[in-house]
Amino acid sequence: MGTTAGNASTGASIEAFYANIRHELEAIEEAGLYKTERIITSPQGSVIHTADGKEVINLCANNYLGLSSHPEVLKAAHEALDSHGFGLSSVRFICGTQDLHKTLEARLAKFLGTEDTILYGSAFDANGGLFETLLGAEDAVISDELNHASIIDGIRLCKAQRYRYKHNDLDDLRAQLKAADAAGARFKLVFTDGVFSMDGTIARLDEIRAICDEFGALLGIDECHATGFLGKRGRGSHEHRGVFGKIDIITGTLGKGLGGASGGFTSARKEVVALLRQRSRPYLFSNTVAPAIVGASIKVLDLLEADTSLRDKLEDSALYFRRKIVELGFDIKPGDHPIVPIMVYDAPKAQALSKRLLELGVYVIGFFYPVVPKGQARIRVQISAVHEREQLDAALKAFETAGKELGII
Ligand SMILES: *Cc1c(COP(=O)(O)O)cnc(C)c1O
Repeated sequence: MGTTAGNASTGASIEAFYANIRHELEAIEEAGLYKTERIITSPQGSVIHTADGKEVINLCANNYLGLSSHPEVLKAAHEALDSHGFGLSSVRFICGTQDLHKTLEARLAKFLGTEDTILYGSAFDANGGLFETLLGAEDAVISDELNHASIIDGIRLCKAQRYRYKHNDLDDLRAQLKAADAAGARFKLVFTDGVFSMDGTIARLDEIRAICDEFGALLGIDECHATGFLGKRGRGSHEHRGVFGKIDIITGTLGKGLGGASGGFTSARKEVVALLRQRSRPYLFSNTVAPAIVGASIKVLDLLEADTSLRDKLEDSALYFRRKIVELGFDIKPGDHPIVPIMVYDAPKAQALSKRLLELGVYVIGFFYPVVPKGQARIRVQISAVHEREQLDAALKAFETAGKELGII
């Protein structure tokens, strides 16, 4: 609380600041764009318990492979907790690097087909600390317009010339690369989400790689919605598109398919990772990833390298759900990713649909502006390898009921 007594400034009062914020909150609410957080009281899984005691089928976690509550992953986390402690109370370069961290970095590099990997507190930090470290004012970064907020923010922090190409539009990518060349850019880095999380679109990395080669540009991808399950061995969208081993920089998260705790990484050539360790600010000035998460993540890679059953089941279930929901008459964004965007278009209607589905025992979230463009509100369903066929069928039934009630189908 502030006071205006004795204030000699000509600016607005401190109280006006708080009033302004309350006004902004009201405007968000009036526009039907206010996001509320529902409280769950159980671990992450195919079903979860909400604070009012209901058990509901969960269709909105990034728990693609069901590893958030996998017994072997939990066991590995317990073991690392016992052997390496709860936390390191340090950044990496002071006293925050354990043998486990080095092992996980080497294992991730191998899994992703790169030379080395550096861990971060989150993928948001990995992207935040990437561009500024690698590019200067003489360079250019060429970014898909729908890239994740963390990529956009990371690029904002760097002095390189910025070019944006229309989403997934490779003619425009080419035009932007030409423009960067015409402006005399020294190094060019094209950067894209491997998978766009609001649409489930998988970037055409084979074509993008070819264009980058033509222009002598580096290619970087954010694999948060891909690592662990896209591609025949689950290595990601580069494997899915046939360019495994041909991506210069890969950023990703431990907080989605790879177990869902938290933590992120950048995977690249040795010299890139070495420079990031020297200069990347979120790495230098933020705490090390907790040992239990690191130990469990190594176990996740053991599981995924041993066999592909989880990603195979996920692929199967995603295609099943996509086919069935379209048969019911819903509009979806076509594709084959386990992200299934069910288009409602109108924000209040998307909220009404998710609310009704919750009553019917299905937990989903409506997405609307500013997370997606205005008029593009949707329910984003995310399929997981832990969903059994009966659960998917029950969810489809609920969608049918609620969709009819609300006049969507
Ligand atoms: C989720 C996500 C992030 C952020 O990951 P965190 O590890 O939770 O910070 C970054 N980029 C993309 C594309 C994402 O989907």
